Amino acid sequence: MPTPITSRLLLNIAEKCFPDQCLFCGKPDEPACSPCLAGLPWLEHCCQRCALPLGHGAELCPHCLKAPPAFRHCLCLWRYEFPISTLIQRFKYQADRPARRFLETQLSRTVDMYLEQSGETFDAVLAVPSHPLKRFWRGYNQSYLLAKALSRTCQLPYRSTLAKRRWSRSQQGLSRKQRLNNLKTSFQIRSTVAGLKLLLVDDVMTTASTANVISQLLMEHDATSVDIACLARTPQHMTS
Ligand SMILES: [Zn+2]
Ligand SMILES: [Zn+2]
Repeated sequence: MPTPITSRLLLNIAEKCFPDQCLFCGKPDEPACSPCLAGLPWLEHCCQRCALPLGHGAELCPHCLKAPPAFRHCLCLWRYEFPISTLIQRFKYQADRPARRFLETQLSRTVDMYLEQSGETFDAVLAVPSHPLKRFWRGYNQSYLLAKALSRTCQLPYRSTLAKRRWSRSQQGLSRKQRLNNLKTSFQIRSTVAGLKLLLVDDVMTTASTANVISQLLMEHDATSVDIACLARTPQHMTS
């Protein structure tokens, strides 16, 4: 198996040999041709709070109606389905640069447009931290890359406030509440967030548990509000 450095080198060479191709169909059109772009699983009907894809006109999903999350709103582009799921995996696991550029641009533009249309503003952009060992092996944290790109495009300050501890207790034999508490204690806050409106960036939101526990932690440290920006959200059947 090639090491992360070798695979990155191979990908860089491949990128130079085959530039300007649609990321989805390979046609000479960069970075995505119009039919492929239009055919992506854009998130349309979804929960106004957690962006869970909904098949009907309801504003909130049953989870948010029962127990609203600690974050206010989730800005999300796609349902986590093929072919965007494959592209996100290329970005996440193979350090694929064209995939990274496309995803960073799409997320940054969407947030920029949202800020312009809503008049909303944020005091700081944060990234969901990854485990130090994972970061060491992979060489990067994909949420950090997305957050940094977004911070540049939208001219919002990035803060490396969040960290993941090196250790985590075993989840075995714990109830759901204990598991969530265990997850919460695996994150730490390294600088003050008091009085700040925060935008937390993640790559893919699955159960929303991670985004929720980090938001709880930030709110307990007196943040004014937390919103989420992410690339994709898994459909309901994958989260229940
Ligand atoms: Zn195409
Ligand atoms: Zn919801």
